[in-house]
Amino acid sequence: MNTLFLPALEHLQNRGRQIAAGIAVLCVGLLGAVYIGSSPTAVAPRDAAERFVDSLLALMTIEEKIGQMTLFTTDWEATGPTIRAGYREDIRQGRCGALFNSHTATFTRELQRIAVEESRLQIPLLFGYDVIHGYKTIFPIPLAEAASWDLEAIERSARIAATEAAAAGLHWTFAPMVDISRDPRWGRVMEGAGEDTWWACRVAEARVHGFQGEGLGRPDAVVACVKHYAAYGAPTAGREYGTVDMSERFFREYYLPPYAAAVRAGAQTVMTAFNDYDGVPATGNRYLLTDILRKELGFAGFVVTDYTAINEMVPHGVAHDEQEAGELALNAGVDMDMQGAVFQRFLKKSLQEGKVSAAQIDTAVRRILLLKYRLGLFDDPYKFCDPEREKRLLLNAEHRAAARDMARKAVVLLKNDRNTLPLSRTARIALIGPLADNKSELLGSWSAAGNAADCVSLLEGLRAAGRGTVMHARGCDIEGTDRSGFAQAVATAKKADVVVVAVGEAAHMSGEAASRTRLSLPGVQEELIEALVATGKPVVVVLMNGRPLAIPKVVERATALVEAWWLGTEAGNALADVLFGHYNPSGKLPMTFPRSEGQIPIFYNEKNTGRPYDANSKWTSKYIDSPNSPLFPFGFGLSYTTFEYGIPTASPTAFRPGDTVRIRVEVRNTGSRAGTEVVQLYVRDLVGSVTRPVRELKGIQRIHLSAGERRTVEFTLTEADLRFYRRDMTWGSEPGEFDLFVGSSSTHGQTVRITLLP
Ligand code: BGC
Repeated sequence: MNTLFLPALEHLQNRGRQIAAGIAVLCVGLLGAVYIGSSPTAVAPRDAAERFVDSLLALMTIEEKIGQMTLFTTDWEATGPTIRAGYREDIRQGRCGALFNSHTATFTRELQRIAVEESRLQIPLLFGYDVIHGYKTIFPIPLAEAASWDLEAIERSARIAATEAAAAGLHWTFAPMVDISRDPRWGRVMEGAGEDTWWACRVAEARVHGFQGEGLGRPDAVVACVKHYAAYGAPTAGREYGTVDMSERFFREYYLPPYAAAVRAGAQTVMTAFNDYDGVPATGNRYLLTDILRKELGFAGFVVTDYTAINEMVPHGVAHDEQEAGELALNAGVDMDMQGAVFQRFLKKSLQEGKVSAAQIDTAVRRILLLKYRLGLFDDPYKFCDPEREKRLLLNAEHRAAARDMARKAVVLLKNDRNTLPLSRTARIALIGPLADNKSELLGSWSAAGNAADCVSLLEGLRAAGRGTVMHARGCDIEGTDRSGFAQAVATAKKADVVVVAVGEAAHMSGEAASRTRLSLPGVQEELIEALVATGKPVVVVLMNGRPLAIPKVVERATALVEAWWLGTEAGNALADVLFGHYNPSGKLPMTFPRSEGQIPIFYNEKNTGRPYDANSKWTSKYIDSPNSPLFPFGFGLSYTTFEYGIPTASPTAFRPGDTVRIRVEVRNTGSRAGTEVVQLYVRDLVGSVTRPVRELKGIQRIHLSAGERRTVEFTLTEADLRFYRRDMTWGSEPGEFDLFVGSSSTHGQTVRITLLP
């Protein structure tokens, strides 16, 4: 017998089959291999995993191979337009090798049993799910986590999400989403790390490490899936699924790096994007999927499409029908078809017609099987289906505490007149607003198995933490024009020392398919705030939302303003910690807040232009009805204490490639309580062969200072930090002068000049 097949046959025997059955399988497999002309020995096996996978591949029929390239949702839930019936029979027949939207130890065990006991080759299923910011214990939305500037906490959040997900039978999360976006009209900004490329890279790495933990195969690790490759965050006019068109320079400099960072961090899968890029849908884009992803970035895992993204190449207008779309996808570099059933229905025909090759199919299947092997599923397909572990881990006290800690760190204090915050614990508080006594919206979009009932509302959090009275009135709904609750809200406010009003978006207003043209508070919430302000009481506005909002009037009228995003399960406790001053807020905005929608796209790292903004000169790059400046700049956030920065110094001020420049700045806590500050370092290349941004983030340091404490913060910089795509599209630096800007946001800081010598 050919020893090539031994590992796979052992697998079959171990799983309780007779050798006779194995030999029968072998014969069928051989016939299949001859039929499709594949060459199982084409790739020299390198390790046990590859030897095993090649031996299994040699036993597989073309239908079974295509089955491994097929991913279906189950009837548990759907995250897109199509639900396909009959997936159980598909598993039994080997026509489907991976499932998503099925979870819990019991349900995944039930489905896995069909695969490993009733299908011919007993190949275990791979279970995926959108575990984006927690599985059962829901953490803040990713944009909010990015506002913490705390990579350790971000990694920990992903770690806990993975631990819970893996205990609930899952192997694979469709995260991290690393799409850069400069357009808050786009609903999915809630799912990323914001507008900055450097920061998005760091967050991507932290999240991949968090999800994949100490290594695949461990019972607390899930496979990460970087998405949506590529440039999904730049749809024209911020409209979901819209066209993406940008220069190659712009793409490579701003949009590509976070995907690359996630791949370098070890992410084992990549998801294609719905959008087209330079006229070619990402799912059929060979330049993106093969030339860049495989050849330049060296990605060795497998590529899955987004939901029915292959089918969508027909309405995109690059394929006449779904069969052709499937060929485009495979030829571009796709390995697995999510939900579209295009590979399942047409790939064999495409093979027979010579439109795709057997070797291409084998390559895709090999990648998928290798991952299953590395997860240990061939040894124990049920290793992630452990109800006891699931019960012990989900939503346990440790996870809740971590979620509360992350949520506090994510809060951004945007305004605090007259030191209205923190509130006195004995204050009489009027808690008003549609989000004051709400639990379901706190989870935000993509909240996996999170339950609203497990959430702590703001009302509960304040009542549990304070010693005074918390009176409550709803005032109005998030949407709609009903003002009938205003009178009671105002009456309640009048009885209080301070008003806290919780307003914002409903969870469905940010996330996928949730682009908005108006970024004001929906419904009559802004009117409610005005009515409360008219009482003369101090009004603390707590915003709960998934994106930057354009709310200049609210900012003007509020006495204090707190950006609370959607903070997840522990939202109410975390907010009470912040509002009562038990935790001193330290978050900073990872995305610019516009004054109005007309400023969008708006971002800190813009170019200077040939006619830079001058308020007094008409013929400069500006609007005639609005300043250029944002409502709140990138990197901005206040604290209950104050920090003062000294003048930054650089040493040496002239340096050569290979040298390291040390940048030092003294930061002093000049207030009366301890606090955390995020010190930021930006660079400006004064003259380049191409125009360069006025500021580019290069580093941050998150420091904790007690009252009166001073500390010298040090950053280091080398020539490598000054590289960019030069005029000839080579990646490198150019000698010359650079301004280093050190401060507390992208607009508050001081500059020191350095020179890079040739
Ligand atoms: C989304 C993906 C998600 C997938 C599966 C799609 O609609 O764009 O981000 O992973 O559905 O739920």
